[in-house]
Amino acid sequence: MAPLTGIAASNGIAIAKAYKLAIPDLSFEKTKVDHPDQEIERLTSALAISSSELEKIKKHARASLGDEHAEIFSAHLLVLSDPELIDPIKDKIQNEKVNAEFALDETAQMFIQMFESMDNEYMRERAADIKDVTKRVMAHLLGVTFPNPALIDEEVIVIAEDLTPSDTAQLNKQFVQGFTTNIGGRTSHSAIMARSLEIPAVVGTKNVTEQVNKGDVIIVDGIHGEVIINPTEDEIKFYQQKQEEFEQQKNEWAKLKDEPSVTKDGTHVELVANIGTPEDVSGVLNNGGEGVGLYRTEFLYMGKNELPTEDEQFEAYKSVLEQMKDKPVVVRTLDIGGDKELTYLELPKEMNPFLGYRAIRLCLERDDIFRTQLRALLRASTYGNLKIMFPMIATLDEFRQAKAILLEEKDNLVQAGTAVSDDIEIGIMVEIPSTAVIARQFAKEVDFFSIGTNDLIQYTLAADRMNERVSYLYQPYHPAILNLVHNVIEAAHAEGKWAGMCGEMAGDSIAIPILLGLGLDEFSMSATSILPARTQIKHLSKEELASYKDQLLSMNTADEVEAFIREKTNQ
Ligand code: PEP
Ligand code: MG
Repeated sequence: MAPLTGIAASNGIAIAKAYKLAIPDLSFEKTKVDHPDQEIERLTSALAISSSELEKIKKHARASLGDEHAEIFSAHLLVLSDPELIDPIKDKIQNEKVNAEFALDETAQMFIQMFESMDNEYMRERAADIKDVTKRVMAHLLGVTFPNPALIDEEVIVIAEDLTPSDTAQLNKQFVQGFTTNIGGRTSHSAIMARSLEIPAVVGTKNVTEQVNKGDVIIVDGIHGEVIINPTEDEIKFYQQKQEEFEQQKNEWAKLKDEPSVTKDGTHVELVANIGTPEDVSGVLNNGGEGVGLYRTEFLYMGKNELPTEDEQFEAYKSVLEQMKDKPVVVRTLDIGGDKELTYLELPKEMNPFLGYRAIRLCLERDDIFRTQLRALLRASTYGNLKIMFPMIATLDEFRQAKAILLEEKDNLVQAGTAVSDDIEIGIMVEIPSTAVIARQFAKEVDFFSIGTNDLIQYTLAADRMNERVSYLYQPYHPAILNLVHNVIEAAHAEGKWAGMCGEMAGDSIAIPILLGLGLDEFSMSATSILPARTQIKHLSKEELASYKDQLLSMNTADEVEAFIREKTNQ
């Protein structure tokens, strides 16, 4: 069978049994029963199995993700033992002589609707808990398998339509050897998480979930973007050989771990990492990262039932800053929305979520959420070298408002006698074309730019970063992108500021020579890309690359740019 092709999302090769992560079909018929007692017994047994599963998941979550993440499962366990929910289900079975599935569904729906309609965040969270728990109990009543990614205890490759960031956060890296999905691109958050977990992944295969059956052995080739289903003995040997070569290559790269990132003509650039959690910092240090160029704080808000408190956030930021010692740490304020949802915030469904109510737009309106985060950051600022940046800035006005709120919170803290660092740089992400175009005006007011090409490309070419159908338009080397990036770097330098890039483009081997020639100061990428990038940069001449600048900026197509760079850099 020919391999399935997809997008190589995270380097490496994995060979293991497939584990399908999909909510099973939970449809059922309403039936009348002659023996309600037997139905109640079925219900009691489904509740007991669900409870014991949730206990185990809670234990795993606590061990691998910490207490906060485990809390969501305590809430689910409470639902299972709550007589206010369970007794009416039993009464319904007894009085109406209906099957347990119907009684469970009707009763749960009634509570869900009641709680959802309340103007009280806490009660709405309870509705979400009931929804989640009912699915699990229903699966056990119907005798179908309910996936439990946190309980995986043998080596597997996870197969899914898509993986949300919170699904990915639950995967146990000890056993999950890799994953592959139907949808997504190199910059979808599942791909980004795979790279920070350092497990091979192929995304955007369109139909891997249909092609693979439970128990099939598969190979995920995260280097070339291929998935081989039920490989022959020879194919397994071939890929085991590739796995070994990849390990050897990693050992070669590791030799540069403590070296600076310098071109062959002596220009030093910063190679820093993108992280999602404090646990990712060890990967940054092991891979020779010179700092953190993007801390995506939204993961603190995900996979739980309520907003993180100021103290919880403070502990996370402090931990990252302390672990990084005096190395720079750029923390991005909350960027929720787009493909990153928070169920408990009940944001309205939108036609175009990537163009909608997200990131700084939401933070400026819900300034209670924003201020809590800023206070936590400011309090943590004395533990290391903190820089703060705001995401999705489209207008100067948004930047000014965000900065004013930050300074106001800083004043309040200082007045109250709390220590706050005095040299926190305040910058923005440049991921919206309007901001890239008027970067000169911004450069007068911000301390730095970090170019977010994952979004900048999708907005410039009007091509959804999650949609494989239009992925041919998602072109990092498009001359329009190069011109915008160039404009941002020039604008920063004209004001004596620095310009970095934290989109995936910064770690791409074709883009790196282009960006060096354009004068980018800081390259922020997945930790595992740092050492290959440092190896590449060692062999490049900044002066030579800068001499191609005008030629590259006036090219007609991305293909021309790519062919030119391949030829000049022997790739
Ligand atoms: C970006 O848009 O390039 C970026 C780094 O942010 P995110 O991928 O989290 O949207
Ligand atoms: Mg972005």
